[in-house]
Amino acid sequence: MSAPAEPTMPAYDPNNIFAKILRGEIPAHTVYEDAETLAFMDVMPQGEGHTLVIPKAPARGLLDAEPASLAALAATVQRVARAVKAAFAADGLTVFQYNEPAGGQTVFHLHVHIVPRHEGVPLRRHEGGMADPALLAGHADRIRAALGA
Ligand code: 5GP
Repeated sequence: MSAPAEPTMPAYDPNNIFAKILRGEIPAHTVYEDAETLAFMDVMPQGEGHTLVIPKAPARGLLDAEPASLAALAATVQRVARAVKAAFAADGLTVFQYNEPAGGQTVFHLHVHIVPRHEGVPLRRHEGGMADPALLAGHADRIRAALGA
């Protein structure tokens, strides 16, 4: 008998931290929201302006998400990435997404990272330290302004 194409993934856990943000049970510095997606500041930024975009539909990662949800996610990633680049006068952007612990994932609700980059400035370490909430609030304001919100 041949092996399955994908090993079975653990089930989606509705108590993950981003599901709690979606339900309003814990706060986040939101920069953008529509019917299918939410974008907010990462609390442990790997660079000034590090933003996360998530689908509202529950999915653990890329592999179990519905295509329509992925399409909405991609559209929001592009919209927010343009605003993040403008808000931080970035030279470029690093956009990334991890799947499962072996892939570096630590929060098990699908999310895409957007980090503005400046020539010669290295990325900070993943989950390197909590940012000052007032600083994150200011960064969220800048991104919302660039979105025209
Ligand atoms: P990953 O699952 O891709 O490894 O990363 C999860 C990301 O979520 C990390 O960059 C981490 O800093 C961020 N994060 C973890 N907990 C929270 C939280 O409670 N609020 C926010 N806004 N970000 C979080």
